[in-house]
Amino acid sequence: MKKLENKTVFITGALSGIGKACAIAAAKEGANLVLIDLQSVHANDVLNKIKQDNKNAIFIPCDVSDHLQVKHAVDQTIREFDSIDIALNNAGIGGVSSKIGDMLENDWQHVISVNLNGVFNCMKHQLKQMEKQKHGIVINMSSILGKVGFSNSGHYVAAKHGVIGLTQTAALEYAEMGIRINAICPGFIDTPLLEEGGINKNNAIKQAIIGMHPMKRFGKSEEIANGFLFLASDESTFLNGSSLEIDGGFLCQ
Ligand code: NAD
Repeated sequence: MKKLENKTVFITGALSGIGKACAIAAAKEGANLVLIDLQSVHANDVLNKIKQDNKNAIFIPCDVSDHLQVKHAVDQTIREFDSIDIALNNAGIGGVSSKIGDMLENDWQHVISVNLNGVFNCMKHQLKQMEKQKHGIVINMSSILGKVGFSNSGHYVAAKHGVIGLTQTAALEYAEMGIRINAICPGFIDTPLLEEGGINKNNAIKQAIIGMHPMKRFGKSEEIANGFLFLASDESTFLNGSSLEIDGGFLCQ
């Protein structure tokens, strides 16, 4: 028996890195997919991979920081599939690195608008729908940096802490309605986000960050997808408001 047979799974940031791995894993477990992303370059590639598993999948271009675009994406999902059974609010950006005193207001606003407001926009519309359905699972992508500070990343750290706070609050508000809300806190994962942040281009920085993980390596997107499947399936029916740390031991220190 597949873990997500005929469930409708709505994933933001679904065309790259962690979101893409989660989409492919969900399709293998029998889910129909709604792929949400700002860019459409890789849409056909991911859609084709999912259709190899004989599952339905659609791509909806959407900027999660735009409240109206998110509302339209949720409405379109309901028109196509009637429900949202599982939502993974994963879209995120790294932002420009700098100390707080040097951080440009625009850089702060941009990271907060995608990584925190984007999760709020999605949850607001998903939860309204899930309340009507009387069931649903929401999983929000936080980070190890939602639990601790990290130099030169004040915007990202603040947003990811905020995602955990939103997750816990929503878990309290919706627990009696058959809706579970949890977060995932990955360590550093080898995805294009690390390229964007310049980490993979600078070997000294890369080795220093690898060295912060007790397992002395970056994680893989597929390792986060395994955690996502656990939270999205009936294997985690009593988990609510938690933050699943998948970080090679980073947060033990
Ligand atoms: P990625 O860059 O590979 O993928 C992110 C995806 O989100 C991209 O497809 C991008 O187009 C999309 N996106 C960006 N802004 C968007 C917007 N406004 N609206 C819709 N889509 C948008 O990154 P990733 O590493 O797979 O990151 C996924 C999530 O995991 C992010 O929230 C990130 O903060 C979190 N995370 C990543 C790491 C890591 O080390 N890679 C660690 C912890 C948490």
